[in-house]
Amino acid sequence: MPMNVQPISTLGDRVNQIRLETARIVNEEILPNEAALWALRADGVVDESRRNRARELRAQIQERVKRAGLWAPHLPEEYGGCGLSFLEHAYMNEVLAYSIGAAALFGVVAPNSGNQKILLKYGSEEQKEKWLRPLTEGKLQSGFSMTEPDRAGSDPRSIRTTARREGDEWVIDGHKWFTSNGKRADFLIVMCRTEDPSGPAEQNGKMTQMIVPTDTPGVKLLRGVPVWGRPSDHCEIRYENVRVPLANQLGQTGSGHRAAQDRLGAGRVYHCMNSIGQMWRAYDLMLQRAMQREVHGGLLEEKQFVQGFIADSYIDIQAARLMTIHCAEKMDSGGDARTDISAIKVFVPQAFHRVADRAIQVWGAAGVSGDLPLAGMYQGARTLRLADGPDEVHKILIAKNILKHYHGGEGWDFGN
Ligand SMILES: Cc1cc2nc3c(=O)[nH]c(=O)nc-3n(C[C@H](O)[C@H](O)[C@H](O)COP(=O)(O)OP(=O)(O)OC[C@H]3O[C@@H](n4cnc5c(N)ncnc54)[C@H](O)[C@@H]3O)c2cc1C
Repeated sequence: MPMNVQPISTLGDRVNQIRLETARIVNEEILPNEAALWALRADGVVDESRRNRARELRAQIQERVKRAGLWAPHLPEEYGGCGLSFLEHAYMNEVLAYSIGAAALFGVVAPNSGNQKILLKYGSEEQKEKWLRPLTEGKLQSGFSMTEPDRAGSDPRSIRTTARREGDEWVIDGHKWFTSNGKRADFLIVMCRTEDPSGPAEQNGKMTQMIVPTDTPGVKLLRGVPVWGRPSDHCEIRYENVRVPLANQLGQTGSGHRAAQDRLGAGRVYHCMNSIGQMWRAYDLMLQRAMQREVHGGLLEEKQFVQGFIADSYIDIQAARLMTIHCAEKMDSGGDARTDISAIKVFVPQAFHRVADRAIQVWGAAGVSGDLPLAGMYQGARTLRLADGPDEVHKILIAKNILKHYHGGEGWDFGN
């Protein structure tokens, strides 16, 4: 079923055009070819002709995306992107995410996209030329290496990986895991604890991000950690006496924590809009099945249990979408959106999880099969509840922010 995207009367012409053109490409080029584009992944069969066909199709679609001026929405034109504003990109994401994997065909691939944003904001001109440009052109791959097996990822200030200065080099020692894209990466952005006496005194953070080429002696890729019972490229890596030039430091000494927060802030809105696009797809699939499948003498759509699923999922999607748009608008207008960012980070993955769960239930066995995108959505939604800051951490932040208002003698203004 094609995604039903119509102009939104409260939005400007440009955002509407972006949404409609994105939907046209998704509906005409990606949805009808989903099996051919991603079949290799679903059934695990590695067949050369299928692989070549998939590659050709992807290249054709990428060409159309570029012609439509929608390539790499997260990057400015100067670095090969189409330079969308924050809100334009957010609105585009819900349409893109309707079809699994479509983002990659529009030049947005995690973790490269997050690294590109960090390089753009914190990188020197030399670093941008050496790492950002080839990353954007698809000539290099990258990973982001922060989480450690022995320390709580939900409290990134606790990391143990160190970088110590020796002459004109940083020497890195540490142990990381869940470094996504680790097997393919040409370089990693590694979060390190730096105790640089020449760093600015006012920096309270002691974290610094370093660019580490994966072929540097001492970078030991131990394994891809299996995820949801399958092999993965979320890698466990040891850094043993890894030497990189001082020029590989990203931003000021001590700016690593701030940079990681920047990476996540806007990223959380994009992730939530992604989740909403996927919920939209799960919803369409659920409705499609409910209208066709006969059980116990009647169509599923006639059963009140299923009508309950339809109504509850509608409520979940609308609530998630409006909450995310409210948060995005607040960020865009320069307001303090910290509470809203945490709220969507908790609510949207949970709503996504519920919607995917109901759609699976309606489809029965087919729902958990590789023939539909629902099982992947379900697992993705579950993972989102602990990645990028688990639910509990965000709930604590929400409560703290709100209590601060009340202690200051004013209530919460839900209108803003
Ligand atoms: C598929 C996948 C890909 C990933 N990719 C990357 C990547 O590319 N790079 C990278 O660096 N990391 C990556 N991660 C790691 C991810 O960011 C961390 O898993 C996440 O930050 C949580 O850290 P942790 O696993 O150490 O859990 P912990 O910090 O040990 O937390 C475990 C649980 O404790 C609970 N908890 C935490 N704090 C509190 C609290 N204050 N009060 C009550 N309960 C609490 C939560 O329920 C939480 O889930 C990835 C993870 C996954 C699953």
